[in-house]
Amino acid sequence: MRVLLAEDDDGVAGALTEALYEHGHLPARVRRGEDVLTRHRQTDLLLLDLGLPDVDGLEVLRKLRAVSGLPVVVLTARGDERSVVRGLRLGADDYLVKPVRLAELLARIEAVTRRATTSAAPAPRTVRAGDVEVDLDARRVTVGGAEVRLTTKEFAVLAALAARAGTAVSRQQLMDEVWGDAYLAVSRSLDVHLTQLRAKLGRPEVLTTIRGFGYRFGD
Ligand code: CA
Repeated sequence: MRVLLAEDDDGVAGALTEALYEHGHLPARVRRGEDVLTRHRQTDLLLLDLGLPDVDGLEVLRKLRAVSGLPVVVLTARGDERSVVRGLRLGADDYLVKPVRLAELLARIEAVTRRATTSAAPAPRTVRAGDVEVDLDARRVTVGGAEVRLTTKEFAVLAALAARAGTAVSRQQLMDEVWGDAYLAVSRSLDVHLTQLRAKLGRPEVLTTIRGFGYRFGD
């Protein structure tokens, strides 16, 4: 299996590359977060360090998840609860705190890969609620067949909700996914975007507010 290793520490990267190779994988190593975003299509799994020199690993994960369901195992020195929770919320399949035992890492990689292949049936990428249709791949939204033009952020908020249609999504999670680390500044901004979305869609019943928690797309 092809494993992309994003790790700026040469010692750690060398040891992991060797271990992966010995266990029959095909490791490739990059040092920077930007390299992950340009190379993620050429791998089967990503091992992601969070302390990267250019972009924070959680930001890399957030950007990656907007375009890819690639299995991701976070491997980091950051064991604080907030980082772990954010990593998992942003779509990491597993989260390991360094120093990690090699046998455990390899077992976790196998477990994540197994889950990814058994649930390989792709989720429907066009979501409907009433006559509102959100095409997550084409990034198109139609209401009653007519296209509605949304800004990038408006679409991101709607897509984050539509991808989990019928499920309540917390404000915290929406802000993590759409704004990433800047979320502290944007609590008000989320309200503004939702107000604009509701106005543009003209279907207030499609976006439900869950008081004290967040929002839901569809029933
Ligand atoms: Ca690092």
